[in-house]
Amino acid sequence: MSDGAGPADEAASPGPAMHALLRELYPICRSITGDGVRQTLARLGQEIALEVHEVPSGTQVFDWTVPREWNIRDAYVKNAAGERVIDFRRHNLHVVSYSVPVRRTMSLAELRPHLHTLPDQPDLIPYRTSYYRESWGFCLAHRDLERLPDGEYEVCIDATLADGHLTYGECFLPGTSPDEVLVSCHVCHPSLCDDNLSGIVVATFLARHLARQSRRLSYRFVFIPGTIGAITWLSRNEDRAQAIRHGLVLTCIGDRAGFTYKRSRRGTATIDRAVEHVLGHLPERSTTIDFSPYGYDERQYCSPGFDLPVGCLMRSHHGRFPQYHTSADDPDFVDPAQLAGALATLQSVFEVLEHDRAWRNLNPRCEPQLGKRGLYGAVGGSGIAQLEMAMLWVLNLSDGRFTLLDIAQRSALPFAVIRHAADLLARHGLLAPCEPAG
Ligand code: ZN
Repeated sequence: MSDGAGPADEAASPGPAMHALLRELYPICRSITGDGVRQTLARLGQEIALEVHEVPSGTQVFDWTVPREWNIRDAYVKNAAGERVIDFRRHNLHVVSYSVPVRRTMSLAELRPHLHTLPDQPDLIPYRTSYYRESWGFCLAHRDLERLPDGEYEVCIDATLADGHLTYGECFLPGTSPDEVLVSCHVCHPSLCDDNLSGIVVATFLARHLARQSRRLSYRFVFIPGTIGAITWLSRNEDRAQAIRHGLVLTCIGDRAGFTYKRSRRGTATIDRAVEHVLGHLPERSTTIDFSPYGYDERQYCSPGFDLPVGCLMRSHHGRFPQYHTSADDPDFVDPAQLAGALATLQSVFEVLEHDRAWRNLNPRCEPQLGKRGLYGAVGGSGIAQLEMAMLWVLNLSDGRFTLLDIAQRSALPFAVIRHAADLLARHGLLAPCEPAG
């Protein structure tokens, strides 16, 4: 791709291509509506088959209303010498997202209530929004604020807040089963990398990977503005949501920490067990936390009227790392290898979902003799190999009540090994699938 890596290199190590896409999307000024979201989706549409939806401002979506559309062209604060002391063109975090247009001259004292800084992190620009109340403001490094002398300043926010649309993107990959897997990520943060871009990039590469695979399950990827986008999607897809069997919200998934998995509201859904199983077999340390009605769009998917089995996969927990919602959440904060690691981990999770099913042992009275079939103890006395152990577990628990994921959890063996064992046993006529697929 842009780094000159060919498709073969990319398959072996997708990290650089994922990070290149993240850097390309970084300068775009996204918000919950507007051209920044459209540009982002247009770029993703070059990678995956993306259907873009436009929902008019004023549309009622459950208890919410689709807001007016916000677009920004320029914004600055100029000193008496005409120099831009705060300049949107240098960093789009400098403007409070959804600021109403302003063009005035005012004293520093008048301007001061509209300036947001982080005194404890004086070199960083904070990220601020004013989506659901009309106001305006600028964000800047506290050190730069302290350097502003008293005097008159020319303030300009060249933005439009007007009836328009809320934009979201959807990529649907049909499988042989109508049962769906939902992958959701927010596309409403401006130049922030771990928070929003990492999820967007991982979801895009995941969709691209799945598009080339044969699929039992159907997959639906939604790229939506946070909160209002998920509410809008759910209100327009109430029936379709019933087909969702498993789901994940992806966010903050490219930093250097181990994974944090937040369980769905149900807590023991297959997706919860699949993610916990896969994370448990990674060499890196990971954390699992219970559902709470705060965070990202799992709040909407897990609202009681839907109660969908949707968890949230992160690395660092949102709100709990110093770079969160600041200019330090930049491309360097996200690591290419961590993006690739997230992609590989999700591929393993989806392998579990694709192949989890119950089987029936066709020789349930005592163990079948595996040795005479060449399946066991080729070299005696050296202890039992992992695959042989997996075959014993699969044979023992395949009475129709347990799926391969149940067996993997109970045996503490990786799902891939359990699945391989089941395939071998089936090929030797010792195992038959239970219908319907579990
Ligand atoms: Zn955020």
